Amino acid sequence: MEKFSGKSIFKGIAIGKISFVSKDKQQVRRTKISDTAAEMKRYEDAKALAVEELNGLYEKAVKEVGEDSAEIFNVHAMMLEDDDFNDGVKDKIENQLVNAEYAVARTGDDFYEMFDNMEDEYFKARAADMKDIAERVISKLSGASGGINLTEPSIIVSEDLAPSETIQLDKEKLLAFVTELGSSNSHTAILARTMNLPALIGVKIDKEWNGKIAVVDGYSGSLVIEPDEETLAAYEKKQAEDLEKRALLKTLKGKETVSKSGKKIHLYANIGEPKDLANVIDNDGEGIGLFRSEFLYLGSEDFPTEEEQFAAYKKVAEAMGGKKVIIRTLDLGADKQVEYFNLGHEDNPAMGYRAIRICLDRTDIFKTQLRALLRASAFGNISIMYPMIISVNEVLQIKQIVNSVMDELEAEGVKFNRNIEQGIMIETPAAVIMSDELAKEVDFFSIGTNDLTQYTLAIDRQNSKLDNINDSHHPAVLRSIKTVVENAHKAGIWAGICGELGADTTLTETFLSYGVDELSVSPSFILGVRKAVRDCD
Ligand code: PEP
Ligand code: MG
Repeated sequence: MEKFSGKSIFKGIAIGKISFVSKDKQQVRRTKISDTAAEMKRYEDAKALAVEELNGLYEKAVKEVGEDSAEIFNVHAMMLEDDDFNDGVKDKIENQLVNAEYAVARTGDDFYEMFDNMEDEYFKARAADMKDIAERVISKLSGASGGINLTEPSIIVSEDLAPSETIQLDKEKLLAFVTELGSSNSHTAILARTMNLPALIGVKIDKEWNGKIAVVDGYSGSLVIEPDEETLAAYEKKQAEDLEKRALLKTLKGKETVSKSGKKIHLYANIGEPKDLANVIDNDGEGIGLFRSEFLYLGSEDFPTEEEQFAAYKKVAEAMGGKKVIIRTLDLGADKQVEYFNLGHEDNPAMGYRAIRICLDRTDIFKTQLRALLRASAFGNISIMYPMIISVNEVLQIKQIVNSVMDELEAEGVKFNRNIEQGIMIETPAAVIMSDELAKEVDFFSIGTNDLTQYTLAIDRQNSKLDNINDSHHPAVLRSIKTVVENAHKAGIWAGICGELGADTTLTETFLSYGVDELSVSPSFILGVRKAVRDCD
């Protein structure tokens, strides 16, 4: 038995035989030609065949994975008609007097490099599309049929997979994908997710695995080759549980999150980046309850600009189509550090310079984010939420800053929602104790049980030595939640939970009994929590 790890792009367990797909590149030889018109005709004919094939693939994909995922084949057909690409091929045939295969291969390589060198992850992922397109035309020129034939249920292991290869695979016989290359943004990854197939990327693959039994664990991101009996039995059990969960997932999509006695819960999703949206929509999230905006800062080499932030917030707001999107302002510091902030060493960072404390000190950074958020509020149903609050005074300071930013935007004639909903996270004991006063100043409370547990129990959430006593079920935490909800309701505002505890279905009934109005959980937990709510009296 051997175990390898990679990055999971879709959760799930697959057990089966490996089918190793070798990606030896089609050998393209350079030959000198004299009849450039004839060579151009060969190219045009091959391109027409490739476009015809892509149209067929589009039709197949629409039926199997839906219009959105199928769109890539239309994009490929369009890329084939791109003037720059065609001029590149033409130039090589007419001026370098080379055969069409060689001209297409070199032009494909040029475009591959151009996309691969781009900073933007989306365009970077298009490099693989370029390779796919060039290889398709070359195969038409050489009369090759291509495609991967599966004769039995298989785990496909390959250096890389093109979207066209992925969609052509017989879905009935496809168990999982494992590739060495590829990015989670690639269309192959998107297709794997749409097909609900466990998939790993970044695994150091070996062609000797062909025909061997393996397990793909999309939860831990691992691949087990020739598992021993005990491991196999454990995975079979996990797989059965997984299938059960998926069946549940299907039946609960589109259903209301309401208890038997009629208590409606708003069931939202926690996300870190716009790319998590697919997962939210897939799992029928009713909105976004926590967009951890600091991930935009963490994934950046420098302060993200107002425009960059605006684009990300707008994208999420538009994608949710009018559903609530609660964006939390920057929560950096403690365990989330970025070099360009120069936060410096602190003996006790969890209790240090972090989150709203930084924002109220570095108002330039805060105002940039607020401008982006407010501008995006014209494109959807955005709410703003402030983290790590300990006092009414902080809220008053925030309001003053927000008002000044609003006045600024108004003076500039920029559209935004002046009545934007604004709430705070309750994640410190001080905020719990002051929640009656705080409730008079804000529109909602969202309880961050991860930090609330840390600060209530005085247990560093990063310290694994204390895992055994780091208990979010501690009565002090539960009483705090109850107090916060009661104080929210007394002031006529709503209260939810966005910490991990919100997804703990052993407490769903307790939360409902406290009157919690909203739960925001990781996308993959949404349907499990919906079931728990629907099972409650
Ligand atoms: C929390 O503290 O519960 C929370 C949701 O915020 P984070 O986990 O990002 O600190
Ligand atoms: Mg927190």
